[in-house]
Amino acid sequence: MPVPPEFDLIGVGFGPSNLALAIAVAEHNATAATPVTAQFLERQPRFGWHRGMLLEDATMQVSFLKDLVTMRNPASTFSFLSYLHSHGRLVDFINHKNLFPLRIEFHDYFEWAAAKVDDQVSYGHEVVSVRGGDPFFEVRTAGGEVYRARNLVVGTGLRPNLPEGAETSDRIWHNQQLLHRIDDVRDPARCVVVGAGQSAAEVTAFLHDRFPAAEVCSVFARYGYSPSDDSSFANRIFDPDGVDAFYSAPEDVKRRLMTYHANTNYSAVDIDLIDDLYKRVYREKVQGKSRLRIFNTSRPVDITEDETVCVTVESLTTGEKTVLEADLVVYATGYLSADPTPLLGDLGQRCRRDEHGRLRVERDYRLVLPDLPGAIYLQGGTEHTHGITSSLLSNTAVRVGEILASIVDRRPALDWSDEYVVKEWA
Ligand SMILES: Cc1cc2nc3c(=O)[nH]c(=O)nc-3n(C[C@H](O)[C@H](O)[C@H](O)COP(=O)(O)OP(=O)(O)OC[C@H]3O[C@@H](n4cnc5c(N)ncnc54)[C@H](O)[C@@H]3O)c2cc1C
Repeated sequence: MPVPPEFDLIGVGFGPSNLALAIAVAEHNATAATPVTAQFLERQPRFGWHRGMLLEDATMQVSFLKDLVTMRNPASTFSFLSYLHSHGRLVDFINHKNLFPLRIEFHDYFEWAAAKVDDQVSYGHEVVSVRGGDPFFEVRTAGGEVYRARNLVVGTGLRPNLPEGAETSDRIWHNQQLLHRIDDVRDPARCVVVGAGQSAAEVTAFLHDRFPAAEVCSVFARYGYSPSDDSSFANRIFDPDGVDAFYSAPEDVKRRLMTYHANTNYSAVDIDLIDDLYKRVYREKVQGKSRLRIFNTSRPVDITEDETVCVTVESLTTGEKTVLEADLVVYATGYLSADPTPLLGDLGQRCRRDEHGRLRVERDYRLVLPDLPGAIYLQGGTEHTHGITSSLLSNTAVRVGEILASIVDRRPALDWSDEYVVKEWA
């Protein structure tokens, strides 16, 4: 059997995080004496970034300047501005005076960038197990292929979060599925959306537009949708310096920072969208036909499925229960970081953990795995160590620069001298 090729790094997953890393590798290799060999394995058949939520008018929650590269290399040809230029839209975008592009436009930018580093990616390759690491990790895919690498960078993203006991079905989904399944829904009389974050508000507005004859009920525990804080001082929490500060802070300060600034990201909605939803509710009140109904300070306590789905909504203030017969229920109840350890098998057991059972992670995003020459880096799942940027795009460009620098710096001295000798003799 042929021995699988050996790479400096294998990236598991090819979302924006590992795409940004592939670009950093390409830019490094353009001038480096010793190129870094990298291969990224992605389970989707082609590049895709949360396609189920690519709503036509949804905008980015981060400045376009925090694209895949600019914070690391403002002169990069992989920037959002280079993308606009290559598509003949640069001047139109400038006239737009807008820091927050459409999500569909940013997706197109990601696809454009991904196509430029296509040689580093294998799509349709789901990683199912990892072992070894002394010195090579063996990475196995669902198709049975084996890849070998000295370093792994796990960027497997988020997984949908459902309330405890909640089950999905043909008519009950997490919002992740929205655009994949919405065409199957015909003339619903009522839709129920559970949740009060950005996705919940977007789904509520979307269903209200899409089905003009349907009632849309939004159910959440808060009194009202809360605005996301994108003010300048609070935004510094997403800065590279913010990551340094968070990483070195004592545990109680970390906890306090997350509480103070959770509303920069979690369960928070763009103020324009909140205003838009309120206008709809008010307009319908004036017209005497309220079909956008807000069940605030409420929660679904029972959901049964028969001819229709019956959602029992309980008011948290009065305890009153309302039964809503619905054709569709969408849980927009957030996401959790994908836990990398099941994929890592025995290696996962060997990872050092803190007193709360969470993975220990070095400042360069390396898992603490003693007695192993190979290194496993995490892109995502490091909120407890590196702070709120962990699962976001804000710091991606800088983070991948740090990971690549660490991989290059930690290359065994032997490799470098081998290369050097070969060059001298050539
Ligand atoms: C609807 C939505 C909108 C968002 N908008 C913003 C925003 O505006 N700004 C912002 O900063 N953040 C936003 N986020 C947060 C989001 O986490 C980041 O935008 C981004 O997706 C993080 O990139 P990633 O590559 O780490 O993870 P992902 O984008 O989730 O990519 C992970 C990839 O890994 C692949 N994968 C998983 N397991 C395996 C496996 N075993 N083998 C092979 N491949 C695998 C997946 O198929 C996927 O392609 C948004 C999130 C959602 C859900």
